[in-house]
Amino acid sequence: MAGDRLIEVKNLCKEFHGKQVLKNISLDINKGDVVCLIGPSGSGKSTFLRCLNRMEEANSGEILFEGTDICKKDVDIDVHRRKMGMVFQQFNLFPHMTVLENLVLAPMKLQKISADEAEKYAMSLLEKVGLDDRANEYPSKLSGGQQQRVAIVRALCMKPDVMLFDEPTSALDPEMVGEVLSVMKDLAKQKMTMVVVTHEMGFAREVANRVVFLDSGEFVEENVPYEFFTNPKNDRLRTFLSKVL
Ligand code: ADP
Ligand code: MG
Repeated sequence: MAGDRLIEVKNLCKEFHGKQVLKNISLDINKGDVVCLIGPSGSGKSTFLRCLNRMEEANSGEILFEGTDICKKDVDIDVHRRKMGMVFQQFNLFPHMTVLENLVLAPMKLQKISADEAEKYAMSLLEKVGLDDRANEYPSKLSGGQQQRVAIVRALCMKPDVMLFDEPTSALDPEMVGEVLSVMKDLAKQKMTMVVVTHEMGFAREVANRVVFLDSGEFVEENVPYEFFTNPKNDRLRTFLSKVL
């Protein structure tokens, strides 16, 4: 294993009811990488992301996470999953808990961190995303963009080694997209390893160090952003970009 390798996906296959949704996918993710996954709806982006932390079980292939094949049945997946923060299109905050209660729940329960320490850390992160004054509000009092920023902070409270984002801005009103992307951009600057499914081509171009195009369950093309967007090689990627750019 290379020193800076965090995740190594090898020949991953996934089918639903006999339909192949991921076809022999291989991808290496190094520490500090920001990998953007783009592709048409239904191409398998979410399924791929969900396979990475075994929210979906792959049918075959390997996923080495920090050197351990987490697809093996005898692996305690919870131990590894805690190191992978996940942020979804829907923010999924617990509505009956305040922002702060949402944030300290997992660290206290799963990492046995004291309430004091968990709250202190959560507040420091809330401050970084400009929401420390909302700590005692219920999620319904917050805008979509604020809720998504809290959802990102919630994942960060577990001190993950990688953050997985599945279209984190797709459910937001347009005027709130920027504030969420800006938090993600800051994370990238701090060298957080990130895998981001997104339709935000500007973000991919500016923040990613690698962009991957997924179509019909296949990884069709991967490149550094500039080349990816200005000099696409595959016809399917060219067609896709001509529609979205
Ligand atoms: P994307 O995120 O790129 O839009 P998905 O990974 O959600 O694509 O879906 C890829 C394909 O797998 C689609 O054809 C979708 O209908 C199918 N699929 C996804 N989840 C399930 C599921 N739980 N059961 C059956 N089919 C599914
Ligand atoms: Mg999806």
